[in-house]
Amino acid sequence: ELRFSLPHLTDIFKDLKPIPSTFCLKMRTPVSEEFAGGYPSDEKWHGYINNNDRVLLKVIRYSSPTSAGAQCIDPDCTWVEQWVHRAGPRENIYFRPEDVKAAIITCGGLCPGLNDVIRQIVITLEIYGVKNIVGIPFGYRGFTDRGLKEMPLTRKVVQNIHLSGGSLLGVSRGGPSVREIVDSMEERGINMLFVLGGNGTHAGAVAIHDECRKRRMKVAVVGVPKTIDNDILLMDKTFGFDTAVEEAQRAINSAYIEAHSAYRGVGLVKLMGRSSGFIAMHASLSSGQVDICLIPEAPFHIHGPHGVLRHLEYLLEKKGAAVLCVAEGAGQILLQKTNATDASGNTVLGDIGVHIQQEVKKYFKELGKPADVKYIDPTYMIRAIRANASDGILCTVLGQNAVHGAFAGFSGITVGICNTHYAYFPIPEVIKYPRLIDPNSRMWHRCLTSTGQPDFI
Ligand code: ATP
Ligand code: MG
Repeated sequence: ELRFSLPHLTDIFKDLKPIPSTFCLKMRTPVSEEFAGGYPSDEKWHGYINNNDRVLLKVIRYSSPTSAGAQCIDPDCTWVEQWVHRAGPRENIYFRPEDVKAAIITCGGLCPGLNDVIRQIVITLEIYGVKNIVGIPFGYRGFTDRGLKEMPLTRKVVQNIHLSGGSLLGVSRGGPSVREIVDSMEERGINMLFVLGGNGTHAGAVAIHDECRKRRMKVAVVGVPKTIDNDILLMDKTFGFDTAVEEAQRAINSAYIEAHSAYRGVGLVKLMGRSSGFIAMHASLSSGQVDICLIPEAPFHIHGPHGVLRHLEYLLEKKGAAVLCVAEGAGQILLQKTNATDASGNTVLGDIGVHIQQEVKKYFKELGKPADVKYIDPTYMIRAIRANASDGILCTVLGQNAVHGAFAGFSGITVGICNTHYAYFPIPEVIKYPRLIDPNSRMWHRCLTSTGQPDFI
């Protein structure tokens, strides 16, 4: 069964007629001076994607209800199959490239690959023949802050931006209301908006899409999910995650070296992961140097006979050193609630890394055998680096497909990789709640097998 239908501009604009896209897709026709004469002979985007093309999101045949595990509550359910819409260029497009004013925006926190996506959106828009492309500086704020000017974007401007991390456009949290954003879009004549951001940004994108529909503005709002935590539903992975795991390993390795070079050394690394511990789990799995991995999805005790400290004591006796890797959202229940929120209204988390560091120091001091704790929080170092090769490719494909989606007339959608293929999703479906690690999953159990840690409850 097809999991859901995609919102399309023709749903509201009954008079909206498709334009055959061949006129702008003739690869032989140079669209910018730089590429004169350099196109492959194919007249199209090497073939179009039909609106009915589907990607198999999930197919699992369980031979028994036991192997289905948490996936399946119904004992008779042994077959799961779900399909989603395939991303890519359509034969019919709904915007004349010469009428398009496209805007790109990056919101939330930094994530490796933002510049790669911006770059690819601009390049693809140019290939479609779009001349008017701008960047809105510093997230949604850039729409209303009079001091912030839109940044004209061309292939020339974006050519090398992927070589450094961060975002060419800048990011921010909080900002204007949806009504103000859409007012500003109307005023600027923006009819394609590419939104790079996390769950908050995507919630904003849906609200902008809804407001545009209410005002009957022919605007395509297309998201590219930016979440280093990899916590977007239905997607294999989001860009930046791979890079983050790779870089996180370096921090773990440093913690390992520190711990093993110290007398009774404990290396402690706090990694990103507000509600899901994918980075911590994957970095622990890949490094092979972690003894204890703590994630938000698996509750744990610090004290008591089955607590983290008791296991640490055992590790120090046995191996003389230990390495802990903790996701920032882990063990929040153990910390004092602050009720503080950031500019976007997100709860400010307590610092579990510092808390564990203090508890470890206290515990071993009271035991009369102090431990030498080395605490590393590499968060900002990881977020700011440039995307690695595999993320670079992911960003490229996502950026291109975001543009194809907008030209195809879809709005309120986002693009992701799913079961190794690229697909479009209605935004609300992927931000209903964060994607979490199932503590009963094989992957988490593989992590536990790798670290050798017990259940801390
Ligand atoms: P990150 O993963 O880095 O936190 P994010 O997109 O979730 O990314 P936020 O700071 O939560 O980051 O939100 C980014 C922007 O989206 C902010 O400018 C915020 O005002 C806006 N926003 C957040 N939630 C909503 C919402 N429910 N409706 C409209 N706009 C929203
Ligand atoms: Mg968020």
